[in-house]
Amino acid sequence: MPDPSHPQFQAAVIGAGPAGLMAAEVLAQGGVSVQVYESKPSAGRKLLVAGSSGLNLTRAEPFDVFLSRYGSQSQNLKPLLKAFGPDQLIEWVHHLGIETFVGSSARVFPKEMLAASFLHTWLERLKTLGVHFHYEHTWQGWTENNELRFHSPQGETTDKADAVILALGGASWPQLGSTGEWAAILKHHDISLAPFQPANCGFEVHWSDFFRNRFAGQPLKTVSLNFTDALGRSITQQGEFVITEHGVEGSLIYSAGALLRDEITANHKAVFYLDLLPDWPIEKLIERLSQPRGSRSIASHLEKSVGIKGVKSALLWEFLPRETFQQPEQLAKAIKALPIPLIAPRPIAEAISTAGGVLFSELNQDLMLRKLPGVFCAGEMLDWEAPTGGYLLTACFSSGHAAGSGALDWLNHKINLK
Ligand SMILES: Cc1cc2nc3c(=O)[nH]c(=O)nc-3n(C[C@H](O)[C@H](O)[C@H](O)COP(=O)(O)OP(=O)(O)OC[C@H]3O[C@@H](n4cnc5c(N)ncnc54)[C@H](O)[C@@H]3O)c2cc1C
Repeated sequence: MPDPSHPQFQAAVIGAGPAGLMAAEVLAQGGVSVQVYESKPSAGRKLLVAGSSGLNLTRAEPFDVFLSRYGSQSQNLKPLLKAFGPDQLIEWVHHLGIETFVGSSARVFPKEMLAASFLHTWLERLKTLGVHFHYEHTWQGWTENNELRFHSPQGETTDKADAVILALGGASWPQLGSTGEWAAILKHHDISLAPFQPANCGFEVHWSDFFRNRFAGQPLKTVSLNFTDALGRSITQQGEFVITEHGVEGSLIYSAGALLRDEITANHKAVFYLDLLPDWPIEKLIERLSQPRGSRSIASHLEKSVGIKGVKSALLWEFLPRETFQQPEQLAKAIKALPIPLIAPRPIAEAISTAGGVLFSELNQDLMLRKLPGVFCAGEMLDWEAPTGGYLLTACFSSGHAAGSGALDWLNHKINLK
């Protein structure tokens, strides 16, 4: 509850996604008067889309495994996730009065699956804590007097704050509010950013018209993806993905997405290898494919002997020369490692999340910008990325918590100096 010992402090939280709302809660609970500014007419639009078919908040898996999902930025996120990681997040959700359950692949969801009721409950709690919301207020930067400038339906408005939390999101799905336009403001203040890149995105493949028209929208289930980049980093994973009009998309593609994207940036293409029958040893495939096919067509022989049909069969016809289908050994090899050439990632606006953003070297351990004392950053606007499915949201909640706590410490320090 608000602490009457220092009611004079005002904090502005800009961006009402999970990171900003978490920072607002920490500050309000610390007794600070909190104003939340949001460019959209309501809060948490991306959170609602993320949870449209179940809000996957986090994962119940060993901490080291969890941390490894953040790849090259895991060491920067480690202290934040140690302080407020999956366990603390689950406990916090329980304190909201919402039960959780662990689904498949250790995914954690609110028991009442609707993201809308989760968000509603949270916003009510924030209002009870005295947090004020200003919707349709788009942050434009600072005035010469160091006041925050907003564009609102009433025209330009300003606000003075003792501490500012920027939680402005990435640059994907801009229709939900996170446009990435804040990057120009921070660059103007000499803050270095890693370029925005699509993460958890689809990739483009040159399909033939026949394949695209016939198979776009079809899932490829129980396949295994294998990819090694030019630096020797590799991933082998089983899962599923979907053929799209433009190429490929889905959870299996996302899990290799960062490596594939970086390879395309470096070498203008990336080729992954698809095992269409991961449970079949190659010897068994060769033996079955070598059996006489009699009067059966090749397609029918493939289906009858090894069960390959539909989109899996069409993928083989799409990429293999005709003569390979007459050579059981070559065909078996292709079934176990079919090369799929990718041309480009799909545009960032379509991606689930954004890689790039404010460099950790611009921030102190409390996520305060070294060049702008009193201004803290949190959420997807920071330079990290992770696979979808709980890792993104957890790091947003966690960094929001860290930025809120950091701002609170900073304000308390100011009191002590008085
Ligand atoms: C389709 C989809 C599915 C997803 N599924 C999952 C999932 O299963 N699991 C998972 O962990 N994550 C998932 N995510 C990702 C997750 O939703 C985001 O990582 C998370 O919402 C980012 O939180 P944030 O608070 O950093 O930013 P956001 O949620 O993007 O919030 C930023 C807010 O800042 C506001 N804003 C931006 N600029 C300004 C400005 N200048 N002035 C004022 N306000 C501004 C925006 O309007 C926005 O409300 C999914 C995302 C999408 C799009």
